[in-house]
Amino acid sequence: MLTLTESTIRSSFVNASRKEVKDASLPPNLTEMTDDDFADLDLLGWRDATYLRRAYVVVPGLDDEPIGISLRQAEKAPRRRAMCNWCRDVRLLNEVVFYSARKVGPAGRRGDTVGTLLCRDFECSANVRNDPPPPYEGFDVDAARVRRIDDLRLRATGFAEDLVAGR
Ligand SMILES: [Zn+2]
Repeated sequence: MLTLTESTIRSSFVNASRKEVKDASLPPNLTEMTDDDFADLDLLGWRDATYLRRAYVVVPGLDDEPIGISLRQAEKAPRRRAMCNWCRDVRLLNEVVFYSARKVGPAGRRGDTVGTLLCRDFECSANVRNDPPPPYEGFDVDAARVRRIDDLRLRATGFAEDLVAGR
């Protein structure tokens, strides 16, 4: 994804109030992140440093314009062995939790949300780049990785674009 700065992140949010955007903590290592670091990310997600159940994710839209989404982690623990809807990693490398996002526009003001199961700390980009053992000899590992990356982008961007479509 394109390199993000504090101001591009704060101005990207589509479903957060002005106060929420102002109060949001930034990714802890944002100032040290290089263009190369961003190139290896399909989305940038982080949990709020202050508010226990708040998290944020910035996803490139169809035109690569960043779409920032404010999320809440559900109180209820997800069922065991949940799979992240974005990276669909089946090796259970990390915790997966249920996040909900307030919709954009009138529906959001009425309190409507959409939810999905996601990696708790948004490890999706690393997960899809971590090659599983090839299922058979001659299996094209590189092509499979490219496909996983493409699928992750499609799902994350689709989620973000669906949110914005309610505007
Ligand atoms: Zn994931």
